[in-house]
Amino acid sequence: MNHRFIPLSVPNLKGNERNYVNEAIDMEWVSTGGAFIDRFENAVKAYVRSEGAVACQSGTAGLHLSMLLCGVGSDDAVIVPTLTFIAAVNPVRYVGAEPIFMDCDESLCMDPEKLKEYCETCCKFLDGKLIDASGRHIKAVLVVHVFGNLADLEMICDIAEQYHLKVIEDATEALGSYYLSGRFAGKFAGTIGNVGVYSFNGNKIVTSGGGGMIVSQDMELLNHAKHLSTQAKSDDVYYSHDMVGYNYRMTNLQAAVGLAQLEQIEDFIDRKKQNYCCYLEHEINLIPFRKEIRPNYWFYAYLSNNRDKLIQHCTEQNIQVRPVWQLIHTTTPYLNSTNFKIERALYYYDRIVCLPCSSNLCVDDIARVVQIVKEQERLSL
Ligand SMILES: *Cc1c(COP(=O)(O)O)cnc(C)c1O
Repeated sequence: MNHRFIPLSVPNLKGNERNYVNEAIDMEWVSTGGAFIDRFENAVKAYVRSEGAVACQSGTAGLHLSMLLCGVGSDDAVIVPTLTFIAAVNPVRYVGAEPIFMDCDESLCMDPEKLKEYCETCCKFLDGKLIDASGRHIKAVLVVHVFGNLADLEMICDIAEQYHLKVIEDATEALGSYYLSGRFAGKFAGTIGNVGVYSFNGNKIVTSGGGGMIVSQDMELLNHAKHLSTQAKSDDVYYSHDMVGYNYRMTNLQAAVGLAQLEQIEDFIDRKKQNYCCYLEHEINLIPFRKEIRPNYWFYAYLSNNRDKLIQHCTEQNIQVRPVWQLIHTTTPYLNSTNFKIERALYYYDRIVCLPCSSNLCVDDIARVVQIVKEQERLSL
């Protein structure tokens, strides 16, 4: 067996990345200041049509800042999905709050019906505050747009408004996805809630090596985000600080890579769409994206009744595949947290196998993955 290794999701760095990094080095601006940071922020802002954008060190850092920006503090609670990457949830604990875990719907994103039921039947709404069974003030709902799909934000935003919850969009996997119809037609993932966060980690649709971006329609909130991310430094000469801040600002080198990547995002999405359709043409039934959106086709989720055997077989054949994340309410740090009627997420957890989805995947690679998957699925019948 000497087949080429087919990775799950790797970056595609054939644009201006090298030129821009060289430019940053030639200018000798490599750290947390420099022209590429502004250019990258402006490019993201223009692409997703937000009021502004603040670049930071990672998606996780952006989510941590979002908790602070939404006033989430110790003894508060935040409603979160269980089917997601743990980086979405840990920031709730960073600020001393508790997560409350929700199930997913068929889009793999938070189930709005169960969210509503939870708020109606397990909480009290007192003096304009939603209070959970242990007396915590639920301040926000954190929505994750899983795999580039979009959550049902129409319904979730209505529930949030009714119960005075802030909406934090973890759009780390969904840069480029937008609604085609409905109340939010034309709006991009990340730009609808109070605050949205993107990630530019190496496996995301565009990468800056590592990095994140906070977007919002509220400039005051964004200015505060920038302040917090730069050690809450109020002036550059005397270094006065009015609060505890963080070293969360993106570097110029990261922004140079990120800007070059963003220039190519629509090409990446086109390729990912073609590859997604190619799997479907070969009768590999990937979980569909919602009809009413333009997804970014970031990750491809295949449902198998023999998840572990399929993973083993692909691995032996030099094809990298992966199950979905361990459900967060079952991970050690969150075993004692509240969860509400989690059913569908268990079903998906048992069956999802993520298939190779890099934008530089070629037709032959897909044919090989298809052949190996079908081989194993026939054996398991
Ligand atoms: C990647 C990811 C993050 C974290 O982003 P980093 O930039 O790696 O810190 C958060 N949430 C979800 C759902 C992600 O997929």
